[in-house]
Amino acid sequence: MSLTEQTAAELSTGLQAGQFSAVDVTRAFLDRIEQTDQSLRAFLAVRSDRALQDAAEIDKRRAAGASLGPLAGLPVAVKDVVCVRGERTTAGSRMLESYHPPYDATIIDRLRDAGAVLIGKTNMDEYAMGSSTENSAYQVTANPWDVERTPGGSSGGSAAAVAAGQTPLAVGSDTGGSIRQPAAFCGVVGVKPTYGRVSRYGLIAYASSLDQLGPFARTAADAALLLQAISGHDPRDSTSADEPTPVFTEGLAKPLKGLRLGVVGEHFGDGLDAEVAAAVRKAIAVYEALGATCVDVQLPHSRYAIAAYYIIAPCEASSNLARYDGVHYGRRTDETELRKEWRREREELRKASDREGLKKQDSLLVAMYRKSRSAGFGSEVKRRIMLGAYALSAGYHDKYYVKALQIRRLIREDYNRAFGDVDLIIGPVAPHAAYRLGEMVDDPLAMYLGDLYTVGANLAGLPGVSTPCGFTASGLPIGVQLQGSPFSEPALLNAVHQYQQVTDWHERRVQI
Ligand code: GLN
Repeated sequence: MSLTEQTAAELSTGLQAGQFSAVDVTRAFLDRIEQTDQSLRAFLAVRSDRALQDAAEIDKRRAAGASLGPLAGLPVAVKDVVCVRGERTTAGSRMLESYHPPYDATIIDRLRDAGAVLIGKTNMDEYAMGSSTENSAYQVTANPWDVERTPGGSSGGSAAAVAAGQTPLAVGSDTGGSIRQPAAFCGVVGVKPTYGRVSRYGLIAYASSLDQLGPFARTAADAALLLQAISGHDPRDSTSADEPTPVFTEGLAKPLKGLRLGVVGEHFGDGLDAEVAAAVRKAIAVYEALGATCVDVQLPHSRYAIAAYYIIAPCEASSNLARYDGVHYGRRTDETELRKEWRREREELRKASDREGLKKQDSLLVAMYRKSRSAGFGSEVKRRIMLGAYALSAGYHDKYYVKALQIRRLIREDYNRAFGDVDLIIGPVAPHAAYRLGEMVDDPLAMYLGDLYTVGANLAGLPGVSTPCGFTASGLPIGVQLQGSPFSEPALLNAVHQYQQVTDWHERRVQI
């Protein structure tokens, strides 16, 4: 089997046995990127030389008998929303086109400590706002299973890269589904951890109370390896949970006998594509065959989840993105025009009273802010900023923002109640498989509705995974989602691992 077809666990075994070196592995994946990325456009930056240097360093240390981390010599691609010191980090936005962070995100430190080889930064929807990766200011990523289709989003680059064998492992971020949905569209495993499990320090914020970083991989065992490396309390992130990190790979082999799986009736109602519904139902039957019992559960407020999410996320985004004005942060617009204006007004300023003069200067500064923001942000980001600013404005704050927070609490209580009766909840990830590029770009509301099954976990802070469970007649992957109570990642990974022992959907390789 070629190196790029192996799982991270297999590569790790081979590396330890000396069958090949970290440089061999890195070179194989770099070659694969070189061959395929012209048609996929999954990467915004490939760290060819640096990755090979890092790999050579690992080989040297191994030869010297040094103790190496659990990801030693394994390539990892990281969504371009995570800061890497001195290396351009754009969040998919024109606004950050020349941003070179002066520091590393905590997960980058942790990946390095674990011995991972950072192979590149992946494409994404601008500021992680979107579901198709078409909102990137730089390029549109294609789905490896059908290059006319979207890989999903917003972490479409990371999902496509793993699906196409450009990297065995990748990191994405999930604010409302952006790990799970692209994992489903691309036929790979995606894990959205419990809020607080993975440090957000150095993650460029979209909606801080919802954002979580997490792994993409082909198997549950590989996802467990990567999650292990990036998890854990971080004093630099005040929302990071001070919880011990379990050994995620330890519980994978546990039989599922007695597992209680919740099925939410409403999640199989109108709007769910028939092929997706059939594949998810089949997955449920596989779990029953593995010894799980299925119980109907109710999440009565889940029908308001989209409405609440699309108030809360834009509100937080409008606040988080206020700093990008071309002065404090972000790309400044071309000042030539403004300078001309300034010169024209200088005479008048001289004549004006101090007070009027100050006002005029102010208005020039505001004009610069406005122009910088107008040129730096794409239309979806502007739409979210306007939505959020409106919902937070005096007079509307209680009607929209506070109301949405109340719904959020009810959604969390629904989940709490459900997890009194069941261990995990199973259902679809998205209402349909990957759609055509361009198909939804003019209909943002339709795209928002696609997040129906994923936003609940973010609103409630819960972990969720997506794993491949079938294909449509036209050959597109379908994913099944499992959600659990806070910090139940071991149970989720165990459930996915056991499913993968008796199915082979995750082993299908795309021809590209
Ligand atoms: N599609 C959702 C949105 O556009 C989720 C994005 C995400 O999880 N980052 O907000």
